[in-house]
Parts: sequence; C-alpha cells; structure tokens
Amino acid sequence: MTDPSSSELLRTSKSELPKSTHFDRKVFTLAAPIQLPFTNQEVEQLPKEVIQQGMCSAASDPDIFFSDAKADQEEAVSLCAICPVLEACLNYAIKNEMYGIWGGTTPEERQTLRSVPVITPEFRREAAEIRNDIEAEILTVTQIAAKYRVDERSIYRYKARLRKEAS
Ligand code: SF4
Repeated sequence: MTDPSSSELLRTSKSELPKSTHFDRKVFTLAAPIQLPFTNQEVEQLPKEVIQQGMCSAASDPDIFFSDAKADQEEAVSLCAICPVLEACLNYAIKNEMYGIWGGTTPEERQTLRSVPVITPEFRREAAEIRNDIEAEILTVTQIAAKYRVDERSIYRYKARLRKEAS
C-alpha cells in the first residue's frame, strides 16, 4: 500500500473540520508520515497571491505563528484550519520552512512529513547568515528574503525569535 499524498490527507482533514472556528487539533492530526523529497537547494517562494489570501496575513498578532507558547500555537493552527490556501501553504512549508506554524502544522509535525532530517548543516549555515543579516540592519526584510529565496514571513519570524532571545 502506498502512502497517501499530503493533498489526500488534507482533503480528508479539511472535510472533517468542525464548522466553528475553534480548531479541534485531534481532527487535523495527519494520519501517517509522508515521504517527500527535501533538500535545501529546492527552496521555492510561496507566491505572493497565495500569501495574500492566507489568514495569517490578516492576523492581528502574526507573532502567534512563531511563538513557543502552546496557546499561541493553537490559535495559529486554528487560523490555518480555516485558511483558503492551507494546502498550498503546507506543501510549500514541508519543503521549505523549519520554524513556526505553517499550513496548520508545527515544525515537529512537518519533520515527520519529510524523509530526511530537517536540520542539515546547510540549513544551520543559512540560518546563521540570515541572523547576521538581520542583526546588521543593513538590508530590508524584503532584501533578506530575496537573498535567501525564502518567504518574507520567515524573516519576520526570525526577527521575532531574535527579539524573544534578547528579552
Ligand atoms: S495555512 Fe496558515 S500559515 Fe499558511 S497561509 Fe494559511 S494561515 Fe498562513
């Protein structure tokens, strides 16, 4: 038997979602690990048109998508659950995003969806370079995102993490 695709799992999960905006975490739990190719060389951009439709774009506090607090994470996942671009977001995030809530999943959940370890030496090196660029305050968020070919939200999330570490 072959593993179900992420699309199939999501379709199943979304169809079972409760009508209320309160998100039932148990319903959304992905049923099985999915084997997907993952390399840091394959980083791609989530199209702006997709991002603009995301519930997180309109969130009053975007930091909840990059918070260690369980309550924040659950709130972020609740928004993802009613997001019209959840499937595209998750497919993108499985390949590209190491931190934060994306596509209704935590980093740990996305790790189970990959066939290789998430934190590679290349990723660590790139994360350190992004951190240096943020701390240097020379490039804008847009420029840093373009430089590393990641979504701007990733840079905002790095910044949130750095602020948290500094506080
Ligand atoms: S699925 Fe979640 S993280 Fe992705 S665009 Fe929608 S609200 Fe944002």
